[in-house]
Amino acid sequence: MNPEDSRIQFECIKCGACCREEALLVTVTGRDIVRISMGLGLESSEVIRAFDFYLLSSSDSPEGLRDTPVVNTEQGPAHVALKKMENGDCIFLKDNLCMIHTIRPMVCMSFPFVFWDGGDEKTWGLSAMKEICPGLGSGPEVEISDLRELADAVLEDIALFKEFAEEWNRNEENPTVEHLVDTILSDQRFTV
Ligand code: SF4
Ligand code: SF4
Repeated sequence: MNPEDSRIQFECIKCGACCREEALLVTVTGRDIVRISMGLGLESSEVIRAFDFYLLSSSDSPEGLRDTPVVNTEQGPAHVALKKMENGDCIFLKDNLCMIHTIRPMVCMSFPFVFWDGGDEKTWGLSAMKEICPGLGSGPEVEISDLRELADAVLEDIALFKEFAEEWNRNEENPTVEHLVDTILSDQRFTV
């Protein structure tokens, strides 16, 4: 962790800017998908409607909040993310509030912070989109222990999804989105 961690002030004021930003891709991991699906009681066909698959080859894909693995689909390798409405709002934003607050993706829980596994040490930084967040620079100083806890959770989720993606991309001969979602939902590694 960086030594200057403790000098960062942050308090989420629930302005919803990060949920409305068209240029932010809300990428998800296997655990996010399973948690949201179980929390909302979604069938796999409904899960597919809540998520989007951003093809690597797409020139108009918005910037991601962080690097998550790509998974093969029938259209090509893609990032999995929450669907956005035409105006850029997240599909789960209603009256400027998150409808799935307690089960929201880890990337939403950690914004505007991002984390990397540097091997010996986990490091953190601020999102490339940090300017949209009015909570940065206000409120209490961020506790380094809180950042460490968040980093552990985020990086473990990403590592598990990378492991899954490598297996899926290497072995799956029928990489349809439908089959992908079914496989994620039945993978015990993602059940928390
Ligand atoms: S932009 Fe910042 S302050 Fe606003 S909801 Fe997102 S994290 Fe909270
Ligand atoms: S899941 Fe909730 S917190 Fe995350 S972008 Fe959507 S509305 Fe915002």
